[in-house]
Amino acid sequence: MEILKNAERMLKKYALCDDCLGRQFALLGYGMENKTRGYSIKLVLAMQAHEKALNGNKRAISLLKKLVLNGNFQTAKVLLEKLDVKPDGEKPFKCYLCENKFEEIENLAKKAVEKMKGWEYETFLVGITLPKEIMEREDEFKSEFEVTYGESLKNHFSREIGKKIAKLTGKEADLKNPHIVVLVNPFTERVKVQVNPLFISGRYRKLVRNIPQSKWICTKCQGKGCERCNWTGKMYPESVAEIISTPVLEMTEGKTTAFHAAGREDVDARMLGLGRPFVIEVKKPKKRFIDLKELESRINDFGSGKVEVLNLNFALREDVERIKKGEGTQKVYRVLVELENEVSDGELEKLERILTGCKISQQTPIRVLHRRADLTREKYIYETKVKKLTPKIIEMQIRCQGGLYIKELITGDMGRTKPNVSELLKTRATPISLDVLDVVM
Ligand SMILES: [Zn+2]
Ligand SMILES: [Zn+2]
Repeated sequence: MEILKNAERMLKKYALCDDCLGRQFALLGYGMENKTRGYSIKLVLAMQAHEKALNGNKRAISLLKKLVLNGNFQTAKVLLEKLDVKPDGEKPFKCYLCENKFEEIENLAKKAVEKMKGWEYETFLVGITLPKEIMEREDEFKSEFEVTYGESLKNHFSREIGKKIAKLTGKEADLKNPHIVVLVNPFTERVKVQVNPLFISGRYRKLVRNIPQSKWICTKCQGKGCERCNWTGKMYPESVAEIISTPVLEMTEGKTTAFHAAGREDVDARMLGLGRPFVIEVKKPKKRFIDLKELESRINDFGSGKVEVLNLNFALREDVERIKKGEGTQKVYRVLVELENEVSDGELEKLERILTGCKISQQTPIRVLHRRADLTREKYIYETKVKKLTPKIIEMQIRCQGGLYIKELITGDMGRTKPNVSELLKTRATPISLDVLDVVM
């Protein structure tokens, strides 16, 4: 009976529509709408009052009058007529909490659907913004009547509008990873659309040297354009990210992209083998259900022997984090090394042995000191294979922890990397070319 008593107190004081009355008891009962809850409560209150009124109870009459005035409840009106009682005048009904905005749900949903046209989506989420005074009014109401099983007005609106949109479009509401978020203010009737980015993961191969992974702003002009950069604002005319991004933007009709990769190779190193994992994030894509096989071949055409992609898949935002934490991964490098003096096969075998299952202590290389903190890190080499190509040129294949600087492992970087190849072979060793063969996540 607590429900009825409390509902009666509410209705005696405030005008409440079926939705808003029912919402105060939303957590009681299951599988019905708040509107049904509210209507049912009003109905039972009216029936009880009818019984009492038939037995001559005057207070019951006044409750019936309240149900007409504050509850907009037509049954109570009919009962009063049958009891030959005149209602207390008439005034237009306006719900204290929602100001009758639940009657606008259908219109709001139609407006939202209209705004979402032009974007491809399968899943959506309805966000609700409410005027401050409406939220404050609801809070005060809840504490006045000690509402403990209620639902918020925001949730209620969001669900009801969501149901209508789903019905109108056949799309699904998704709280976690919606393609599109539609923000509705039921009071101002303003509707705004936020399109979530599209994520595509894959691996890239960089088949030639001297292409940076991402756009490298000209250091002389900071991107404004100068003679040095041939008025492009860039240090290099193209990058892996730009080459991949162009066909992606063409097919998705997105606005911009952000390129996230598991580490990066030096500009003059190739990325071969199975490629390096990346995720490309497309902002505001008009199309998101694209054929990834076609995208792959378009990128590979566009990259024309310089950049290739493979293993394209649709991904999630979480995958970006996962890929950025790729420092813990293993890398396989192939490096050609020139030696100042010839060394014996025995010494090369010894080099292979020492640099297998070995910890390298590496102080930040001099060449990157201007942009990285000066720290000493320990990185592990799992395996090294050494092959003599000519008397003074050897090929090394190194499988190591991500983050080890290979060029410095060869030269020693003035003693900042220890042990190193120069020191172990007791002759100056210089890297001629570097390729990344694999990045193992
Ligand atoms: Zn209401
Ligand atoms: Zn420049």
